Amino acid sequence: MTVTRWFSEGTLKDSPRAALVIAHPGHELRIHGWLAAARPLVFILTDGSGHTGRSRLAATSAILASCGARPGSIYGRMTDAELYRVLLDGRTEVFTGLAEELAGALHQESVALVAGDAAEGFNPGHDVTRLLLNAAVAQLRAAGGPPIDNREFPLHGAPAVRAAREGDAGIRLQLDAAALARKLAAARSYPGLGPEVESALARFGAGAFATECLWEVRYGLAIGDLIAHPPAYEAYGEERVAAGIYREVLRYRSHVAPLAVELRAWATAAISGVSGVAGVSGVAGTAGTVR
Ligand SMILES: [Zn+2]
Repeated sequence: MTVTRWFSEGTLKDSPRAALVIAHPGHELRIHGWLAAARPLVFILTDGSGHTGRSRLAATSAILASCGARPGSIYGRMTDAELYRVLLDGRTEVFTGLAEELAGALHQESVALVAGDAAEGFNPGHDVTRLLLNAAVAQLRAAGGPPIDNREFPLHGAPAVRAAREGDAGIRLQLDAAALARKLAAARSYPGLGPEVESALARFGAGAFATECLWEVRYGLAIGDLIAHPPAYEAYGEERVAAGIYREVLRYRSHVAPLAVELRAWATAAISGVSGVAGVSGVAGTAGTVR
């Protein structure tokens, strides 16, 4: 495996303590080579049960074990149905609590590099997980903690292509044939993801997945400019409501944007000493004290 850019003169052996923060079990397949190389601590918001009611955590746990990665403290914390419910109900305290917990774990584990879902406007769970991660990183920065290299990778878009953003510096991994074969085998044997895997392979070709890119994240909580409006998940929600499957449509402006505002307020509260991660700035903070 070739790593075009890791750290200045770093090798994989000297790579920083890494974490992966994703919405759903299965996202790790997109960066299977990096997973095996960086062996990150892995945080997953939901159990990936979607509308099937079947958790995907066991399948992901097996992949993590085979790659030498390990589960973090947030690991399938809620079902997808519960995530939609708290988003629709505007229960932002659930998310500030999760962001605080994530910030505490990243700090405690001395994580220096974190990768996570890109905000693509494709799935609200992905976008919300990106907001949680960016809020946690922003809070640690505001509290005076050591810098964390914050990176993203697409779940819906092509694996190694992204519209140029200002000052973008991607970490690029080129998998050799054996590493790509292991990745494709893991994806094809992952229970419940067959249609998604085949659709991605049909859209981009298997060879595209030999390149894994982790793009720099600099936009903080401002994801509104990164996604189409209305985002794809609103049209999908409208279809599901029309079919009688959902009762409400989850919308960016009504549900996701207000959460971003709340998370920004929470993250920056550390500056004024209202909140903080104990041990970063000397300001004691515990989950649930802010809201
Ligand atoms: Zn997903």
